[in-house]
Amino acid sequence: MSRNQAVLQKLSATRQWQEDFYRDLHAHPELSGQEARTAANVAERLVETGYAVQRLGGGVVGVLANGEGPVVLARADMDALPVTELTELAYASGETSTDETGAVVGISHACGHDVHVTCLLGAAELLARGASEWRGTFVALFQPAEETASGAQAMLDAGLVDAIPRPEVAFGQHVLGLEAGTVGTQAGPVLSAGDSVRITLYGKGSHGSMPHLSVDPVVLAASVVLRLQTIVSREVKPGEFAVVTVGSSVAGTKSNVIADRAVLLVNVRTYDDAVRSHVLAAIERIVRAECDAAGSPQPPTFDYYDQYPLTDNDAEVAEAVTQAFRGHFGDERVVALGRVTASEDFSRVPDAFGIPYCYWGVGGFAAGTEAPPNHSPFFAPLIQPTLDTGTSALVVAALSRLGDRADGGGAQARSDAPSGQPV
Ligand code: ZN
Ligand code: ZN
Repeated sequence: MSRNQAVLQKLSATRQWQEDFYRDLHAHPELSGQEARTAANVAERLVETGYAVQRLGGGVVGVLANGEGPVVLARADMDALPVTELTELAYASGETSTDETGAVVGISHACGHDVHVTCLLGAAELLARGASEWRGTFVALFQPAEETASGAQAMLDAGLVDAIPRPEVAFGQHVLGLEAGTVGTQAGPVLSAGDSVRITLYGKGSHGSMPHLSVDPVVLAASVVLRLQTIVSREVKPGEFAVVTVGSSVAGTKSNVIADRAVLLVNVRTYDDAVRSHVLAAIERIVRAECDAAGSPQPPTFDYYDQYPLTDNDAEVAEAVTQAFRGHFGDERVVALGRVTASEDFSRVPDAFGIPYCYWGVGGFAAGTEAPPNHSPFFAPLIQPTLDTGTSALVVAALSRLGDRADGGGAQARSDAPSGQPV
């Protein structure tokens, strides 16, 4: 029996509580930065399983030290979204909460982070139960506030780097619209860098009937919005990837009042740091020049927020994980994920340690059905085989790096990994 099989044969014991835990977590989602109940439940389970547990920056980190050997970190995110759930599930969320603006909002696990938490808790228990099969240290990290790009940083700011043994590799996963039972891997950039910028354009207010006394911020904003479309079409090299979206343009209150300012909310996605820098600089250049052209009375302001780093899988680690997945799941259950234009703050933790990482996708939907996208009010992954697959994927990836109890070595999986082209 392989090490994977030896550790995963206990899946029959974790499956039952995992499914119950998942339904409970799905029914009780918590917004970014408010994950108190979830974090308490996670910490309690990790303690019961034998992990040394710390609460840091709203997150939970459990360490299972199991002798000399590699340190491997796996991460799950815990937060839900201000989306009112519209599924027909028996365990659908009916919860509401108050967001940062004071508004009462429906909340749900519309991004599937409840899957991630449940799978990582299961993997943590399986590795603890199967500790005789490996050696090294397994770190299970549960972060808050992924959806606001702030939770990983909050844990780092709370001292994460000094609080745990330095990992040599980090793993993360996301449930996506792939077929349930499959996993999707990708070498290199897998999730885009994401930047949001709030741009304030200043005009000069006037009566709607007296435009000659104004600098009209609505006309200025219209000009800016159109000109921003030329960044991707005219400035980014064909074949390079960039998205520039003006998601909100707000100015004025009444037809007969010319407002004194306009506010644009712009979202940028890129896979390459040089492209990202160019696009952000181009936005500022265009906005400043349009404000000059309009005779704006004061320079525009740029307020950057919700900034997500690039998720850029290490080629060697991604190849080793892909081979380990193929070995366990079979070739037909391991697909090429491709690049996804969503963004994540997962990479902040491995980047803080200066270590390579691999982030993969887990399928959650029946074959042949049209899966609702993440963040949809109808997002409802199948409980199985999704939980089993996500749990197994974490165990298999971790064991591909953890040391072998029998020979005392830790590099077996890596040295055996073929050096062919990554998927
Ligand atoms: Zn999300
Ligand atoms: Zn997510």
